[in-house]
Amino acid sequence: AHDASSSPAADLSRPSDALHRRGLMFILSSPSGAGKTTIARRLLAEVPDIAMSVSATTRPMRPGEVDGKDYHFVSQDEFDRMVEANEFYEWAHVFGKSYGTPKAHIRTQLKAGQDVLFDIDWQGTQQLYQKAQADVVRVFILPPSLAELNRRLVGRGTDSAEVIAARMARAQAEISHWDGYDYVVVNDDVETCFAKVQQILEAERMRRTRQTGLIDFVRELTRS
Ligand code: 5GP
Repeated sequence: AHDASSSPAADLSRPSDALHRRGLMFILSSPSGAGKTTIARRLLAEVPDIAMSVSATTRPMRPGEVDGKDYHFVSQDEFDRMVEANEFYEWAHVFGKSYGTPKAHIRTQLKAGQDVLFDIDWQGTQQLYQKAQADVVRVFILPPSLAELNRRLVGRGTDSAEVIAARMARAQAEISHWDGYDYVVVNDDVETCFAKVQQILEAERMRRTRQTGLIDFVRELTRS
């Protein structure tokens, strides 16, 4: 009967008790320019217990990007070596460059109850879903219109007209894969879109099947 003193009931609100649930893999996909990067940055800055999965890529660094933070910028040789060494959860060719999700740290983070945020395309999303269905939440962000998407791609000012034209074409192809996602949010206003994505994350965190640590708590609550 004295075991009741070690009940987690009084401690559930403490941050150290985040361990009562398993972390989830929160995937954000969208065509380039739909605002996904802004949403991702805000989630990381404003929501506790979520960290970014930093992909490796062979594409060149854009102005303002930081190696090791935005991406691990690697040579094609290094990328091929990582593929050979089975160091990726998933990898894909996007716009003629290679992108991959390194396995390092992700498993440990999930076990520790930390969520991981992925900014990956539909191909990577499919691969992660096949590998870890129960842990994956797939969110697709749509631009409000093609005209607005084009405006945003031009406004970013970091890519050539050729690259922008190629991305517009790719955007429509990417959008056609929206049916491979659990949630779809239209980003016509960044505040509203962020709030909705945050709500999805908060709701998914409360899924009973993720809250494995609550078993003891509920046992305590139902004790007669
Ligand atoms: P960007 O070059 O604009 O940063 O990214 C281009 C596309 O590659 C985006 O749709 C982005 O989500 C996707 N991407 C970035 N990292 C990965 C990755 O590790 N795996 C996959 N499959 N796609 C990625």
